[in-house]
Amino acid sequence: MYSVHSLYANADNKGMQEIITTINILLAAHKKAKEISDKLSDNEIKGIIADMGGQIINLEMVAKERKLEIESLKTEIKKLKTVKKRKVVFKDYAFFDRETNEGPFCPDCYRNKTELNTMSTCYPLDNLIKCGSCGLQLEKYRNY
Ligand SMILES: [Zn+2]
Repeated sequence: MYSVHSLYANADNKGMQEIITTINILLAAHKKAKEISDKLSDNEIKGIIADMGGQIINLEMVAKERKLEIESLKTEIKKLKTVKKRKVVFKDYAFFDRETNEGPFCPDCYRNKTELNTMSTCYPLDNLIKCGSCGLQLEKYRNY
């Protein structure tokens, strides 16, 4: 029924670890309460314990969503920091690394998403390049 241990195996921050610990304590308490209520004939107690189980499952799902959101935001921050570190300059039709001249990087992806996506030549048309991420096509050496 519960798979909380595997869901949060990669938790790496204190807040998420505290949530996981609390969920595990609740799961253990709920399991004990259910075992006890199974021996009773009191349907009201059984209903309350079943409701508690449902609430713990809700909590588990919310925590899972927050964990995924945190991971996604961390990835985005890492990507933005990497792009920010690089100094690029716009030359004629695309962006290039100011120091290494690496590129061309897609101008739309850089301006709209702060991503450095390399554009590749559309063989056999040597003067045409295309972004593999957004599909933008440009003519090389043309001033945009
Ligand atoms: Zn692009």
